[in-house]
Amino acid sequence: MLGRKERDQLELFITGSLRQLVPDDHILARVDRVLDLSWLRDEVADLYCTDNGRPGIDPEVAVRLMVAGFLLGIIHDRRLLREAQVNLAIRWFVGYGLHEVLPDHSSLTRIRQRWGAERFRNIFKRTVKACIAARIATGEIVHIDASLIRANVSWDALAGHHVADVEAANPSEFEWEDRQSGKYKKICTTDPDATMATNGRNRRLEPSYKQHTAVDDVKGVVVDVEVTTGEENEGMAVEAQLDAIAMTTGVAIKMATMDAGYAYAKVFRALEDRQIDAIVPAKAERRPGKVIPTRRFRLDAKHNLVRCPTGKILRPKGKLQRGSFQHFHASREDCRACPLRPRCVSPSRHARVVVFNINHPSLLRARRKRLRWGNHEHHFYRRHRWRVEGLHGEAKTWHGLARAIRRGRDNMRIQAFLTAAAVNLKRLAAALFAILLVFAPHVNDRIRFQRIAST
Ligand code: SF4
Repeated sequence: MLGRKERDQLELFITGSLRQLVPDDHILARVDRVLDLSWLRDEVADLYCTDNGRPGIDPEVAVRLMVAGFLLGIIHDRRLLREAQVNLAIRWFVGYGLHEVLPDHSSLTRIRQRWGAERFRNIFKRTVKACIAARIATGEIVHIDASLIRANVSWDALAGHHVADVEAANPSEFEWEDRQSGKYKKICTTDPDATMATNGRNRRLEPSYKQHTAVDDVKGVVVDVEVTTGEENEGMAVEAQLDAIAMTTGVAIKMATMDAGYAYAKVFRALEDRQIDAIVPAKAERRPGKVIPTRRFRLDAKHNLVRCPTGKILRPKGKLQRGSFQHFHASREDCRACPLRPRCVSPSRHARVVVFNINHPSLLRARRKRLRWGNHEHHFYRRHRWRVEGLHGEAKTWHGLARAIRRGRDNMRIQAFLTAAAVNLKRLAAALFAILLVFAPHVNDRIRFQRIAST
């Protein structure tokens, strides 16, 4: 018989908790079992007046709202609060009843401004520690990679500035050798923290931020995340990131995998200093050209000199450039009489000059190690691809990381920390759910009964 459902019936009353109406396997129900924010009130207490003013929103409610948004992919505050009006699961997750008025969306903006990015970093770090305690992460093998995030800037907001002016205004941003070349440089007038960058030679430059992510090998838990401007080189953030991971996890890293974008002498030196086994492929070498390349010159680090292909000595000259680059000069007499001179010395110069990084011996050791890679190294490098690159894909597809929600690096950092925290909570909830299913096959019934009993 064709059924009919009467609509617009008035509810006289609803008994029990909203929890009974949320399925046990709903993502918010799962995450609620592992989310502990009891420490949060003390963490932010110093930001509020103790005896004056209107009571603010409970910090736990604010964080639960934001986490729910990132878990469900509703990343904009207005949309999130509109959805929360009608979404039973979100109302229950943040602790609001059906008839209670939810906070205004602008309250979340003020909370972010008041707390600052570091408090959100602490929330993220708590999720890492919870994953370590639950043994779904060890912090011993980490996969590190970076991904560009499109800034929240329109194309109309880009303006051309003379490079010299931009460098003068941001001297610390231009210490790395791979800076953007050209006389003019595009800057974002509405979000000056974002810079033009691209992740492919044939793709156009876009105003971007760069997220540097470290993922644990066991279950793909994010153990560290940091955000820089889009044009920052990957290698610049590695050293600080390695130390931050060890601080957060309390465990010394044994192995780190990275892609060829990190194959710099400075990075290898940082890994060697920390006794970390590096799984990093070497950069592809350029095709041989007319000029004899620098790699044909041999650095003798012990005696601080370089030998050219004919065995002549090049000696260091001048101060270190940008803190780590040393120039080595051949003698005019040697080059004048050399048969290789047409292929080695530019017509405008009297003798060959080569530049080496002071950490070049670390790079040479890493290259030699790369030639000896076996199944073990290839296995972990394959895991690198689907662990950390998979994480970036997951965060961009399901949790709104494809584009910055707000402007400014601090806002972008908060977005990155909350996204990483949401992913970690998801991993933690999945692990707990798997354990419950093993030890209690009728887990849904058990949890339901426990909830009803506790309400
Ligand atoms: S031109 Fe000078 S630096 Fe080059 S191979 Fe000859 S002697 Fe060595």
